[in-house]
Amino acid sequence: MTAELKKLIAGRLGARARFGEPMSRHTTWGVGGPAWCLARVNDAAEAVWLATACDAAGLAYKPLGRGSNLLVGDAGYPGVMIRMGGELGKLSLEGSLLRAGAGAPLPGAVRLAARQGLAGLEWAAGIPASLGGAVATNAGAHGGDMAELTATVSLLIPGGEVSRVAGNQLPAGYRRRSLPPGSMVLGAELKLKPSSAAEVERRRKALLDLRRSRQPLAARTAGSVFKNPPGDHAGRLIEAAGLKGLAVGDAVVSRVHANFIENRGRASAGDILSLINTVALKVMEAFSVRLEPEVEVVGV
Ligand SMILES: Cc1cc2nc3c(=O)[nH]c(=O)nc-3n(C[C@H](O)[C@H](O)[C@H](O)COP(=O)(O)OP(=O)(O)OC[C@H]3O[C@@H](n4cnc5c(N)ncnc54)[C@H](O)[C@@H]3O)c2cc1C
Repeated sequence: MTAELKKLIAGRLGARARFGEPMSRHTTWGVGGPAWCLARVNDAAEAVWLATACDAAGLAYKPLGRGSNLLVGDAGYPGVMIRMGGELGKLSLEGSLLRAGAGAPLPGAVRLAARQGLAGLEWAAGIPASLGGAVATNAGAHGGDMAELTATVSLLIPGGEVSRVAGNQLPAGYRRRSLPPGSMVLGAELKLKPSSAAEVERRRKALLDLRRSRQPLAARTAGSVFKNPPGDHAGRLIEAAGLKGLAVGDAVVSRVHANFIENRGRASAGDILSLINTVALKVMEAFSVRLEPEVEVVGV
């Protein structure tokens, strides 16, 4: 069955489908074994076609953004990672409405909004996400998040239906967005506020500078590893437990921000996972607080 599917996918997507592609090339941590296939779709029709073909073959698939919140296991992913480009990677403006394909870069959207003097997205400066990933995870920082900006989301629902849903119909919480199970974000419209370009740019730069001073942005990380527990900060707890610098292989608890784990070279997904488990255990022993991962573990 998978041999047939491979032929079908290769026939339709050509070089945009790579079989056995190491996910370490597509995650910000730089770890992860091969995906059975990593495929780029360029429009909604291709996304529908690919998802339907996988469903018919009983093969798993998963949308992939910039891999900036993913820990893909060393054994890889036994299905199709679907990346969005082409028409699904574009950004445009209509008045204060920013239209983005799911594959568009969030940093590009932040810069476009700033250039046009549209306020609301400055908090996202420095988050290396795709628009689709940011919507799906409800990315947020400095008191802002995607959910509060999202006017509409275009979704591909299992079965092949594409629908445009109002943002307020998709419940959201801290780093969480309820999308219909198995659905993919194809694009979104963000409602921004007219302001002055100088003011939006000043705020974007100030928040980016703040991030640079507090986070190891030059290192290979996946941002915050754990969610902040109610009323506290995961980074504060990890630092107070004396865990900065703790290492498993090349996976190291960052000395810049304790809630970040850096891949200092050749860390494996297993090293990072083992460090995550150790940190959670030690914080539990020290403070009786259960830390929940913010990063998503896939394929282990
Ligand atoms: C240096 C650094 C700083 C960071 N700072 C922040 C921060 O301040 N705030 C914050 O919230 N996060 C932060 N992150 C984490 C990360 O960038 C966010 O979680 C981001 O939203 C993930 O986007 P992505 O495109 O990389 O998604 P991926 O990591 O590729 O995927 C994450 C999840 O979203 C799903 N997904 C991706 N695309 C789609 C789609 N089109 N439709 C449906 N589901 C999809 C994936 O299947 C997966 O389940 C940071 C990461 C780094 C490396």
